[in-house]
Amino acid sequence: MREAVLGLFGGTFDPVHYGHLRLAEEARVKLGLEQVLWLPSGRPAHRDAPACAAQHRLEMVRLAIEGNPGFALDAAEVQAAAPSYTVTSLERLRSLHGPTKPLVLLLGADAFAGLSAWHRWQELFALAHLAVASRPGHPIEPRLLPTALEHEFRARLAQEPEALDQAPAGEILPFTITSLDISATSIRKALDTNASARYLLPDPVLDYIARHRLYH
Ligand code: ATP
Repeated sequence: MREAVLGLFGGTFDPVHYGHLRLAEEARVKLGLEQVLWLPSGRPAHRDAPACAAQHRLEMVRLAIEGNPGFALDAAEVQAAAPSYTVTSLERLRSLHGPTKPLVLLLGADAFAGLSAWHRWQELFALAHLAVASRPGHPIEPRLLPTALEHEFRARLAQEPEALDQAPAGEILPFTITSLDISATSIRKALDTNASARYLLPDPVLDYIARHRLYH
């Protein structure tokens, strides 16, 4: 019997919003994942320091995914003292789940386009599949990718979600999700200027932000 595919969803989640939640939920259903494991980053190595502390970002994800048995939270990157790299998290999860377990890293199209700047990025394909979700303003166009990434994309392109459970790693599957032009950046801006961010992210997350006076 083939092993069920586990989804892995990393991000800064600064803060988590409905764009993230729909990506994870639609991936879970459309790609037939047993679960989506959320991996809030600790101190990210490849981008600016997040606006708010890792512990707060972790708590906000906890509140956002509460009540969805298809979602789980992995706090390891937040609890680690060293900067987070996706490749080291995937190595940890690969040794936890064994060499045959299909793992799929979920990414938005903007994150995928920047993949070749990530630490040891070419090793990611030996550790997990990649599923690339559509995101408004970020078309998945192979010829717009950096050459080395374009090459990997063309060589690894999968047509169907069924490709994911036939190998533990190595395929790249683009998939479309409901277009939600929401970003954490625009939410932080709204909060900083006392504009309303309501209905862009779950109310319990917004309440947490207000209670802890984040993003001001
Ligand atoms: P920021 O505005 O701070 O860059 P963000 O909203 O892009 O943040 P991240 O935590 O950086 O959020 O994103 C985590 C993952 O979710 C990335 O792979 C990103 O591409 C994806 N993602 C975020 N928002 C959306 C969205 N609205 N639609 C599709 N994918 C998204």
